[in-house]
Amino acid sequence: MKKVLVCGAGGFIGGHLVKRLKEEGFWVRAVDIKNHEYAAPPADQFILGDLRNPEVAKQAVEGIEDMYQLAADMGGAGYIFTGDHDAAVMHNSASINLNMLDFGAKAGVKRFFYSSSACIYPAHNQTDPDNPKCSEDSAYPAAPDSEYGWEKLFSERLYLAYMRNLGVQVRIARFHNIFGPLGTWQGGREKAPAALCRKIAETPDGGEIEIWGDGIQTRSFLYVDECLEGVRRLLESDFTGPVNIGSEEMVSINQLAGMIMEIAGKKVNLRHIPGPLGVRGRNSDNKMIRERLGWAPSRPLLEGLEKTYTWIAEQVAEQVAEHAAVASR
Ligand code: NAD
Repeated sequence: MKKVLVCGAGGFIGGHLVKRLKEEGFWVRAVDIKNHEYAAPPADQFILGDLRNPEVAKQAVEGIEDMYQLAADMGGAGYIFTGDHDAAVMHNSASINLNMLDFGAKAGVKRFFYSSSACIYPAHNQTDPDNPKCSEDSAYPAAPDSEYGWEKLFSERLYLAYMRNLGVQVRIARFHNIFGPLGTWQGGREKAPAALCRKIAETPDGGEIEIWGDGIQTRSFLYVDECLEGVRRLLESDFTGPVNIGSEEMVSINQLAGMIMEIAGKKVNLRHIPGPLGVRGRNSDNKMIRERLGWAPSRPLLEGLEKTYTWIAEQVAEQVAEHAAVASR
């Protein structure tokens, strides 16, 4: 049975990836600095360890053929764009990539998947909410809008350099806003779809929620199952990338809130407040993935939002019930 490694398996996408790889029949080693918050991934082996530590990294790569490197110090706009976590984000994520690639190459790992991000694209190409430019070839001259984006760009180059000099096989995807159940939905690292699902689930019909900025900023959001389909297709192809894995269904944040309200069967008012925002507009450009893999994500946003809202509404209801039980003691 082929042995594969998922780094960051205690996180959102990594947890889903372990499940998918098990369903495909792989032997899966999972590693993360923390356990999964919502559902233990069904890995054959789970190493609870810090991949900045060379000893943990060495242990993780032993006997592995394919590595999926998703571990990173990351979060949504409230984590990435305040500037408060810049040093940690750069140091922690770069250390993980330096370790995993170097020890992996020395241990004979054959293929490396690296999860980069749409955050590498130049901020100046994303000022018009209706017409952002995120084709893969627009990455340079580089001007990402966050240190998170700069670290991702550095690590893309690191993987490509190892491919050129050490002959390892590399696959790089630039994820665009992946969402779904079993992801962070509270606490400060959550991203827009999860944050809005939580706010709407917590608010009664006719109430009010806060939205950062004017809500006219645009994004596209990809449901996690389609993200994993792209990851697996990319790994099994002979295409290195970097390639976008994202949806082309661009919506404003106000529209996103409207879609979630429809799913929830509620109408809540939006109060726009200042907050960390990121670029004005961003959308995936799927021309390259279509050409190189003969496939691109195609499912409607609404479909994934329904599943995500249902899961988050359940989490909110459980939390409310727990608080009520504690208060009544
Ligand atoms: P996540 O935060 O849920 O998962 C990342 C995991 O890495 C976490 O479980 C975390 O504990 C782990 N980790 C952090 N530091 C570690 C360390 N020192 N040692 C071991 N594990 C460590 O994030 P996610 O949404 O699942 O994202 C997975 C990858 O995809 C990340 O590299 C992220 O940058 C990238 N990405 C995600 C999105 C998205 O929309 N979710 C978009 C672009 C890129």
